[in-house]
Amino acid sequence: MDAQTEDIDGPIVIIGAGPAGLSAAHELVQVGYRPLVLEVGTRVGGIARTETFRGFHFDIGGHRFYTKLHWIQQLWEEMLGKDFLKVSRLSRIYYRGRFFSYPLKMANALTNLGLVESTRIVASFLRAQTFPSVAEETFEQWMINRFGDRLYRIFFKTYTEKVWGIPCTEIRADWAAQRIMGLSLVSVVSNALFGSQGSKTLVDRFHYPSRGPGMMWQKFRETVEQGGGEIRLSTEAVKIFHRKGQIRTVTAKSGDTSIEYPASHVISSMPINCLMTALEPAPPQTVLEAAHGLTYRALVLVGLIIRAQSPFHDQWIYVHSPSVKVGRIQNFKNWSAQMAPGPERTNVGMEYFCNKGDAIWSMPDRDMVQLATEELVQLGLAQHDQVEDGFVIRQPGAYPVYDQAYKGHLETIRSYLDGFTNLQTIGRNGMHRYNNMDHSMQTGILAARNIFGANKDIWSVNTDDAYLEERYSPRTIEAVKQTFSPLDAPALGTAVGSVCALLIFAATLWLVLKGGAVVGPNLSLLAQYFPGYSVTLRGTLIGAVYGFTAGFVFGWGIAALRNRLVSVALEKMRRKAVFSVIGRFFKP
Ligand SMILES: Cc1cc2nc3c(=O)[nH]c(=O)nc-3n(C[C@H](O)[C@H](O)[C@H](O)COP(=O)(O)OP(=O)(O)OC[C@H]3O[C@@H](n4cnc5c(N)ncnc54)[C@H](O)[C@@H]3O)c2cc1C
Repeated sequence: MDAQTEDIDGPIVIIGAGPAGLSAAHELVQVGYRPLVLEVGTRVGGIARTETFRGFHFDIGGHRFYTKLHWIQQLWEEMLGKDFLKVSRLSRIYYRGRFFSYPLKMANALTNLGLVESTRIVASFLRAQTFPSVAEETFEQWMINRFGDRLYRIFFKTYTEKVWGIPCTEIRADWAAQRIMGLSLVSVVSNALFGSQGSKTLVDRFHYPSRGPGMMWQKFRETVEQGGGEIRLSTEAVKIFHRKGQIRTVTAKSGDTSIEYPASHVISSMPINCLMTALEPAPPQTVLEAAHGLTYRALVLVGLIIRAQSPFHDQWIYVHSPSVKVGRIQNFKNWSAQMAPGPERTNVGMEYFCNKGDAIWSMPDRDMVQLATEELVQLGLAQHDQVEDGFVIRQPGAYPVYDQAYKGHLETIRSYLDGFTNLQTIGRNGMHRYNNMDHSMQTGILAARNIFGANKDIWSVNTDDAYLEERYSPRTIEAVKQTFSPLDAPALGTAVGSVCALLIFAATLWLVLKGGAVVGPNLSLLAQYFPGYSVTLRGTLIGAVYGFTAGFVFGWGIAALRNRLVSVALEKMRRKAVFSVIGRFFKP
């Protein structure tokens, strides 16, 4: 981005006080800027905020603090010190009245499934490997081809359908291959079957703030304010005025009041589709259509207070059983004891994946609490009379949907945004990308650095997986296959054999014709390997036969070895492609 825009008066305006916006603000105050942060919510943290009900703290889902970016880890640790707890993961899958360890442990899985079911799984896996479905158009066909019908039905189907709200037969395979989704199970099975592929979803230790993730963002808020930045809560950016490729002002609403803020730069973490519709003058129709084409999956979290020390030991349980609507259950006290005010009670979060406006989203709070209570009891995780109270959190825009069209829409929007010199879009929904907290923060920090002179491509953040997929994409695999197409072993054997035969024949004949006291003393040593061979006229034919045979075996062997190596390499690439896609499907 071009930073030649400081001549516009006004502060740097940041839209959204989630991890991305706060990290941008934090970075700016470190070098003396005083950004203005506009946040529509009543508290900071965005999706990673913490809500409190009757003294119990509720996370929106469960936010593990885990990153491979050491400097982000260091920043988190500096911010919270001893309040940044290290947690050992315990999570399971609930299916047909049984709990499966997660990550899957073979012994536990076999015990739960029983010998008959396990045998059926193996048989169906082998069948799928031997007779794969030729058509691979749907997610279902794609999965069955790789895991077999039974494993797919037990571990993937129901949960995937709960998360995305679409039958697996309606999810296209290539949509799947473009990483539509984000929850957790196939990597589990893959891990158990083939060993860990370093999946982020399977990390067994992570950090967690003692009173929930909001504690981290509250600390960021304090640091920003101490550094001279301003954070205005309950303030929604509604219009963003621009001229000649530069944002001039941002109009924000707080209650009934509208305020117009001049802006030298804007860093936006609001959903990118809302950003497009807030721009004034409006973007071209194609861009608006692209913005309308981006969709999100929502989450309803029902917080329940249970009169029990802890109804189960897990931090969370994936619920695969189709008999209940709940998709995942959090036990916040197992993330940190301080999430509950005392030892006698615990607080549970029942997660329902839905679409904004659908039956779950629109259900009255009382009914939602009742549904969650009944399902918790039905799953055998609490008694009815243990559930004391409950409340509901509705989170729109929880998961950006990677459908078939999203990439095209995003490209249209991005090329339009390239025309602006002082507008950057960051974060999860701000970029319509499955950024976790660390990558959301990274985009905010890079945007801030761009303002003070860096030239960082924010869109390159969190593209490791995309890179992996590109490296192992069907196109790449096909290209490798074409380049190293199998050698014809008999043909190579015949060619090498013929050349060897000809060489021995010609060399022998030449020495015989040349004559001398001792004819061909060196070549005659071949007789040690080729019994019956001699440097004579008869030997030309015997040598040719031997030469052909040895050359044939050598050429054939080289071709077979090379074909085998290529096929092993291709198989490895295919396996990695599967893991790279699968890891995405089941990420929390
Ligand atoms: C169920 C669930 C579980 C998750 N678990 C993990 C996890 O374990 N680990 C992890 O690292 N990440 C996890 N994430 C992802 C994490 O929540 C996000 O990466 C992170 O919150 C994104 O930060 P952000 O600032 O980009 O966006 P957000 O958190 O969405 O923040 C954007 C902010 O902008 C505000 N805003 C929007 N529009 C406007 C407007 N017009 N004006 C003013 N303000 C506006 C919003 O109110 C919000 O506060 C999870 C997400 C979900 C949904």
